[in-house]
Amino acid sequence: MFETSTIELSASALQNNLRFIKKIMKKGVRFCSVVKGNAYGHGFSQFVRMAMNEGVDYFAVYSAEEAYLLKEEIPEIPHLFIMGEIQNEAIEWAMISGIEFAVFDFSRLETSLYYSRKHNIKAKIHLEIETGMRRTGFNHRSIPEICAWLKVNSDHIIFQGLFTHFAGAESQANHFRITNQINNFSLTKKLFAAENLQPVYYHTSCSAALLNYPETHENMVRIGILQYGYWPNKETHTRYCGDKNNSPEILKRIIRWTSRVMEIKDVKKGCFIGYGTSYLAHKNMRLAIIPIGYAHGYSRNLSNVSWVLINGKQAMVTGTINMNCLSVDITNCGKVEKGDEVVLIGKQNGKIITVSSFSEKSNQLDYELLTRIHINIPRIMGK
Ligand SMILES: *Cc1c(COP(=O)(O)O)cnc(C)c1O
Repeated sequence: MFETSTIELSASALQNNLRFIKKIMKKGVRFCSVVKGNAYGHGFSQFVRMAMNEGVDYFAVYSAEEAYLLKEEIPEIPHLFIMGEIQNEAIEWAMISGIEFAVFDFSRLETSLYYSRKHNIKAKIHLEIETGMRRTGFNHRSIPEICAWLKVNSDHIIFQGLFTHFAGAESQANHFRITNQINNFSLTKKLFAAENLQPVYYHTSCSAALLNYPETHENMVRIGILQYGYWPNKETHTRYCGDKNNSPEILKRIIRWTSRVMEIKDVKKGCFIGYGTSYLAHKNMRLAIIPIGYAHGYSRNLSNVSWVLINGKQAMVTGTINMNCLSVDITNCGKVEKGDEVVLIGKQNGKIITVSSFSEKSNQLDYELLTRIHINIPRIMGK
């Protein structure tokens, strides 16, 4: 009710992106859709429903907290996998709910065993192996002990996955590190195979690895950013598309984030705009004030850097982004009135704002800006 902005999700953009991903995936590989961080800001339930409509049936979140929110919204979600945080107390809930989870320590194995006996159900686990990321994952030297444990407790455990995560497959600069990880993982597979232990899925690829390291597809890939229509970073985009300006729009952004003009203000040359002195009007200017600020997830780092679309024209952000509003220069946007549509991300009259067009300052800008879009902004499904 009374929302200051709306997010519309495009089903046809998702279809386009999934088609692109499937073209790259090797034959027989299972697609797991990564929807952590409120589906990269797109909205858990709306995005997952849209993806299910397209036949996607395997989803991954990071924590039990996220899994809980998603499962509440969509009880019928087919496969749900928690890749990171799950407290021992949540393991019982996950097992009863048929949710799969990552295991990277013995305590989780023992807890799984405990609840398996208590409820007479099996735990569906994905073992994470440390190959060089140095975040989570069993060390190689524990592998014999894990194998022994799995054999003894095979009645209680479904060995659903064996996986690892790469430490930056989007940059050629990390090639040495990634190659080591690939080798470590293949050694891991051999150690398990030698014990006759085979998981249902081996999985290592994120979006960047899918594109840059085809040998890592195994029989499942975990894809986040690409499905939403963004490249992992500029380097990967350039490697794939060459000259940006000549390449067709291979990926399509799903999100369209819009607000409305709240106020219009004329400012004389030589006046400061907004808080402090970060923007001095260098000419007579007309501004539009938009009721979107960093409280909604429009990062303050975009002050004086980003732009919005009004009347299909670029309007630069002037001054610092406030908590609940920002101002843009509409001097050259033609006739603008209060209530006119403002596009923060997405298309208007054939012009487009991609998050990445704002700034090359940070690789993580797309991921970060998207996931910060406030969870309370209504998301609606569109064409
Ligand atoms: C986020 C994440 C992914 C997906 O990464 P993208 O770059 O968005 O494709 C895959 N695996 C793990 C473990 C992750 O945390």
